[in-house]
Amino acid sequence: MLDALPIPYVLKKQRSIALGLWLLGLSRLGFGQAGPASPWVSDALPRLAPPASLTQGVWLKGDLHVHSRHSTESTNNSVGKILAFSQSVGMDYLAITDHDNHVDGDVAHHTWADPEFTSPSVLLLYAAEWTTTRGHGNAFSAQPYDHRRLYQVRDQRDVVVGAVKRQLGVHLSANHPSGKDHFGYSYDMLESLEVWNSVIWAKNANALMIWDDMLSSGRKLTGRGGSDAHHGRPDTPAQATANSVQATANYVGTPTTWVFATARTTQAVVDALTNGRVSVSANPFAPRVELSADLNQDGRLDMMMGDNVAATGRPVRFRVQLAGKMAPDATYRVAVIKNGGAFDTLQLSGRHPVGEFTDTPAATGRTYYRVQVEGPATPYPQVPESMALSSPMVGLSNPLYFNFDPNF
Ligand SMILES: [Zn+2]
Ligand SMILES: [Zn+2]
Repeated sequence: MLDALPIPYVLKKQRSIALGLWLLGLSRLGFGQAGPASPWVSDALPRLAPPASLTQGVWLKGDLHVHSRHSTESTNNSVGKILAFSQSVGMDYLAITDHDNHVDGDVAHHTWADPEFTSPSVLLLYAAEWTTTRGHGNAFSAQPYDHRRLYQVRDQRDVVVGAVKRQLGVHLSANHPSGKDHFGYSYDMLESLEVWNSVIWAKNANALMIWDDMLSSGRKLTGRGGSDAHHGRPDTPAQATANSVQATANYVGTPTTWVFATARTTQAVVDALTNGRVSVSANPFAPRVELSADLNQDGRLDMMMGDNVAATGRPVRFRVQLAGKMAPDATYRVAVIKNGGAFDTLQLSGRHPVGEFTDTPAATGRTYYRVQVEGPATPYPQVPESMALSSPMVGLSNPLYFNFDPNF
């Protein structure tokens, strides 16, 4: 049809199309900037699935980073000893994450094949600490997988590692991101980040900074805990080692990671971890902080930690709740973090502490909120030296997300 039109009309039309495209580019980039829109970047947010049920599920507690005797530097820490302890403090799930390089990648014939690797009450994930020159990460799976394949590509480029990780279908998590052997691969490959490593709270401050940077960049990345415990109590004085003292200060549950699972199964634990329905407490008996929100101010909660919804531009009522047993007459201080910065503080007390705040997440662009709780230490008599080291930290929530791209 085009060649049938008079030439002046075609020129005019082309000019107006060019002008339209130019104006479109300006509106996308903002005034004062020039250049074409990137084909890799889209402002459009895909339609988000509504949050899963807030009530049909169960809170399960566990530790996602523990070393048994299959890690060569561990002492007095058989799989049976770890599991007996975990059962005694009511753990629901556990990931024994032995160093894969200590068994040439073959955790399947060491940790997982250990006759003691069974429990009547503790859900056991198939896991290992991927221990490489470029840092450490934990792999978590609900069922056995070929961990040697991940081990074999540890010195390859991220694009190869990422492809193998996807084929294996494991949940990959960066360990101690601000410490020695920090995760030196792309965070694009991760489902979660160990924001609270071991009982010593103070050394995790930089891990939180990294988490906030990653969240702010658009990555929907779960924050989790892990004791990284290596040493059990010796059965006889003769078995004691220089590190045995650690067993009374840092052991299973320091900290404890809670997941809101749809069922009491290993798959539901991994899924909840991936989805970010996660809260971390100083120990198994410390209060669990829950962050949720009422989006339309009808008095009913619509989303919980890990959930991602489209912002409406209207005010949202947020709720912070502490669950479990509170210290008598205690006041807990809650720091609200919005997009990596301090937003508000709440003081909570009573037997069932609840606090609220209101804010309007931006209608366009990403917003996230998370909370950290400080207060009196909760006794953990099974690991008696732990309270002084975890203090004053009580717990932290995962974020509530607005306008995050689920396909990132
Ligand atoms: Zn490590
Ligand atoms: Zn470790």
